[in-house]
Amino acid sequence: MQVYDCVIVGSGPAGLGAAFELIQAKPGVRLLLLEREQVSSGGLRNDCKMNFTWPIGFPLEYWNADISARYLARVEQFLEPNILPQKNLTTYQKRASRIGVELLMIRQSHLGTDGGLRLIKDLLARLERHGVEISTEEAFVSVDREKKIARTDRREVGYDQLIVAPGRHGFDFLRHFMKENAISYTDNSIDVGVRVETRLEHYPIVKDYYDPKFIFPERTRTFCTNSGAAHVVQEKYMTDDGRPYYSVNGHAYSHEKPANGLVNFAILRSVEFTRPIASGQDYAENLAQLAMLTGGGHPIMQRIGDFRLGKRTMREGLNDDLYDFVPSLSSCTPGDISLAMPSKFLRSIWKALKQLDTIVPGVLHPGTILYYPEIKLYANKPLFLDDHFMAAPDIYLIGDGAGTSRGITGAWASGIRAADGIKKRKGW
Ligand SMILES: Cc1cc2nc3c(=O)[nH]c(=O)nc-3n(C[C@H](O)[C@H](O)[C@H](O)COP(=O)(O)OP(=O)(O)OC[C@H]3O[C@@H](n4cnc5c(N)ncnc54)[C@H](O)[C@@H]3O)c2cc1C
Repeated sequence: MQVYDCVIVGSGPAGLGAAFELIQAKPGVRLLLLEREQVSSGGLRNDCKMNFTWPIGFPLEYWNADISARYLARVEQFLEPNILPQKNLTTYQKRASRIGVELLMIRQSHLGTDGGLRLIKDLLARLERHGVEISTEEAFVSVDREKKIARTDRREVGYDQLIVAPGRHGFDFLRHFMKENAISYTDNSIDVGVRVETRLEHYPIVKDYYDPKFIFPERTRTFCTNSGAAHVVQEKYMTDDGRPYYSVNGHAYSHEKPANGLVNFAILRSVEFTRPIASGQDYAENLAQLAMLTGGGHPIMQRIGDFRLGKRTMREGLNDDLYDFVPSLSSCTPGDISLAMPSKFLRSIWKALKQLDTIVPGVLHPGTILYYPEIKLYANKPLFLDDHFMAAPDIYLIGDGAGTSRGITGAWASGIRAADGIKKRKGW
């Protein structure tokens, strides 16, 4: 059986951040990077816009402005992003503050989905040149903590340190892992919302600020804006008992690809549950199942014009006569979002959309489409043993799946932070 100084599960930004930090600290370190997919399915691959300003991407439970600034500086130094210019924002800022909305000024870069894939390949090649063993299409399954053995779907390997960074798709896996290993955790919050798609001229702010971050009252915010060659996509998830469901999302290709004149972004509301709701994931899965029922097995889309009139959107209504663009995720079912979305979320989101339309007039054009559901699960909150995300002796849980980040840069930073913990304890 092969034995490694460190086994890292997941080649998303959290796993990569940890790997690069460890090889820098201890050249020749025996490192195994396990990736379930053929190529990292992680978020670096999707649109790859990176935010370099607190608090975007950093859950407040684990990060504050000082700590995140220190780690962000290290992420930036390593990734050397091209920070995008921002301009002409004073008018939007004034309009926002007049109605109790904040426009956060965030330093951003954008590679696009194709650029992200190139970056992943380059990073993995660099790791291999440093002697890191990368094993793709090999899934981590479980651990024997006594013997320090990691089991995969192919073999057993020995580890001294184990870093588990399986991302949002690994959320469920991580819950099982924590249960099996008696790691206490809470899972009491979720973000639920819609993805908005409209024509570029109805949301022109993106020409001056790639991913504008508006913070509305009632814990509602804009999130993950995409423009240029921008598309809405659906991600497939499985419930605990094996039922599929979808969450929509968005991405864009780099500026090398022809623009399609569309913009998409999410508006999400965060909710934290108290007793008797024990699990945000269970709640989210039930919401998503209701959306599946309402949409006949697909996410739902509804035109703003129909939503205002309180009627469902029909497939025949998606035409040039009343409306002016073809939805980029046309496999969604035209329908009525209010049949599937609880009013706590719907009310806050509709209010936020009306405020946004005051700040950026036109976004609520009748042709604008709302896609539902967009659900973010990053609420596994393990009870960590230290500040470096160690959840059990020599086992670290990091990234979006473990709730230590909410975006690429935060995930990369949490990888560095876990590696810092290992370096400190091992004297590397
Ligand atoms: C469509 C889409 C667009 C996004 N756009 C952006 C964006 O533009 N900017 C931004 O900051 N964030 C974006 N995000 C969020 C971003 O993807 C995440 O915040 C980030 O990738 C989290 O990093 P991670 O390393 O924790 O997890 P991930 O990046 O998800 O990586 C986890 C990896 O672990 C692997 N894995 C899972 N389980 C196992 C297992 N058992 N064994 C082995 N491997 C396993 C997965 O295959 C995956 O490659 C987007 C997400 C999506 C889905």
